[in-house]
Amino acid sequence: MRRRLSRIVHRTGWVCAGVMLSLSTSAAFFEEWKSGVNWTEPAVITPGDGTAPPSDAVVLFDGGDLEQWNGVKNWTFTEDYAVVGSNISSKEGFGDCQLHLEFATPAEVSGQGQGRGNSGVYLMGRYEVQILDSYENTTYFDGQCASLYKQHPPLVNACRKPGEWQTYDILFTAPRFHADGKLKTPAYVTVLQNGVLVQNHYELQGGTYYENPPSYEAHGLREPLALQFHGNPVRFRNIWIRDLLPVEEQKRDVVAADRGQ
Ligand code: MG
Repeated sequence: MRRRLSRIVHRTGWVCAGVMLSLSTSAAFFEEWKSGVNWTEPAVITPGDGTAPPSDAVVLFDGGDLEQWNGVKNWTFTEDYAVVGSNISSKEGFGDCQLHLEFATPAEVSGQGQGRGNSGVYLMGRYEVQILDSYENTTYFDGQCASLYKQHPPLVNACRKPGEWQTYDILFTAPRFHADGKLKTPAYVTVLQNGVLVQNHYELQGGTYYENPPSYEAHGLREPLALQFHGNPVRFRNIWIRDLLPVEEQKRDVVAADRGQ
């Protein structure tokens, strides 16, 4: 037994020594691999505290009024939030983007199904991420809160109780169209509701409609964001959006001179 143990210790010692030797000599024997891509230096921004906007965001609503939006009628305002009173669309257009917004369905529960706390976020004015009071309120699943309306239910129901503030963090890739209007690449949507992933890079089948199946119609690379008025006093606050721009790159050949720099 003692001799067996001794052999094991002896062998383990050689393995450890080999690993040490390999680690200490690898830098000397192997050249570092480099991608050969001249990346643009990422912009330096300041993140916000909590859900506050980062420094490069466009703030679309931060209490007060809705001066960055068109179509504002019958909305009511406090210092902190606004209550929906009409369909509105942002004055500025957006394409690929990161969107943060906070909403609360009415604390006083009224109606049922699609008639309870209904509103919606329309990306590019066409693709609705549903807002609904889906807390113990059943409706068709691809029409409940955080669904992509009539296309895809949320992965889970992450709704808070009526009257409580909730967050949406949405990542959106806009569709692209050929010059003749045909679809080149579809839109993709990722949604986190209250920090929970509820839509994971879903490929949109087209615009979201109540009366028609989804379909694409060619539009620009940047279109206004819209919020829906569905007759229910849904509240909104802290709405900000960031353009998602591709990192510019310039490929180059990897030459020996670039290595080891
Ligand atoms: Mg809706």
